[in-house]
Amino acid sequence: MPETLEIVPSLPIPAHLVGEVQSKLAYVDEIIARGEVASSGDRITLYLHSPLGVKQGELEEKVQRVVLSMVKGAIRPKVQVLEDHLDRPAGGYHADPHEELLRRGELSQETRGVFALGPLLARLITWFEVRFVELADSFGASPYRFPTLIPASYLERVDYFSAFPHSLTFATHLHTDLDVIDGFARGTACNEHGELNAPPDSFAPIRALLSPAVCYHLYFALADRPLPGGQVVATAVGNCFRHEAINLTSLERLWNFTMREVIFVGPKDFVLDHRETARQRMANLFGQIGLAYRVESANDPFFIGEFRKQVAFQSAFQLKYEIRARLPFKDSTLAVGSYNYHQDFFGRRLNISLPDGAPAHTGCVAFGLERMAYAFLAQFGLDPANWPELVRNGY
Ligand code: AMP
Ligand code: ZN
Repeated sequence: MPETLEIVPSLPIPAHLVGEVQSKLAYVDEIIARGEVASSGDRITLYLHSPLGVKQGELEEKVQRVVLSMVKGAIRPKVQVLEDHLDRPAGGYHADPHEELLRRGELSQETRGVFALGPLLARLITWFEVRFVELADSFGASPYRFPTLIPASYLERVDYFSAFPHSLTFATHLHTDLDVIDGFARGTACNEHGELNAPPDSFAPIRALLSPAVCYHLYFALADRPLPGGQVVATAVGNCFRHEAINLTSLERLWNFTMREVIFVGPKDFVLDHRETARQRMANLFGQIGLAYRVESANDPFFIGEFRKQVAFQSAFQLKYEIRARLPFKDSTLAVGSYNYHQDFFGRRLNISLPDGAPAHTGCVAFGLERMAYAFLAQFGLDPANWPELVRNGY
């Protein structure tokens, strides 16, 4: 039985922040196996990997720091619901598809948050991918292919390090030094946790990270020049990486996942109108397959220091909406995609100019492919005979 620690937060956590604070507990200390915030917001329970000893005071102080910076002065953002189809009957399935996929060998875990997907998921993802590409084609989007790595200097230029430091994944390689390479080749092994035992100074300084999103690559490709034709619509699919620590428990939340984006760059109205048209076209598709979901305003998972300010900003300017599909087995929802508007943030930061010299506005529609398939299976089950005809026939 793991040791537990109960903490009374120095400020009561309001209902709208219970989930947000809980997700940040994952980053407080490696001793935490799981953290829970009571729905009443007046108690935090930490389940620990090992007994605490002298670290208790230090741990409590870190937890209170998270609470204070996220809760103090926080304003409850008004949730704006653009579509509500949560009560659609969908397929009447009520189990967690994760377990069944594992049992059938359709899913295998390589390490925490990293899964190999079998033919059922691969085909289902392809079905959704074709639909997303049709959406992109309906806007005449130009196809792009982006690398999996992204330069550290790029992320720095768009303030990514201060907003999302907790989920970064770094890429490195061995120092180009014969002794280091020889030593690594001869002596390196993984310990029982799957961790390499190579000394940290074997590795070169970090110039690149594994990319956390797709659309950034487009903005950098367009940086420091006038926007060609005054407006751009592009699409790309890519591997994305967000290390969400102990929150990485199932197919719901992955370290390595795939995102398809349709990206709009141009004047403000062009971006906002296209984002809205994309939402309506997707509503049509989701209606045809009978998906139970809702589209509502949301915020990005900013780290604690930036959280309050950024969430208030995103909410005030209606910058982000999420497509939240129902997960019947746990009576909750999961974000399978988002409709985003960044105002002229990237246009200004990256010096992308419109014909009149003003900075370009940007927006994107982003779908998480694994989550889309997972939520679909959670609603319709693993047997294609019970799927909506449109999916079954095209699958
Ligand atoms: P975002 O840019 O955060 O709105 O992400 C776009 C979509 O990517 C989300 O709506 C999810 O479907 C998916 N996504 C984001 N983070 C993860 C993750 N850790 N694991 C799986 N899918 C994710
Ligand atoms: Zn994007």
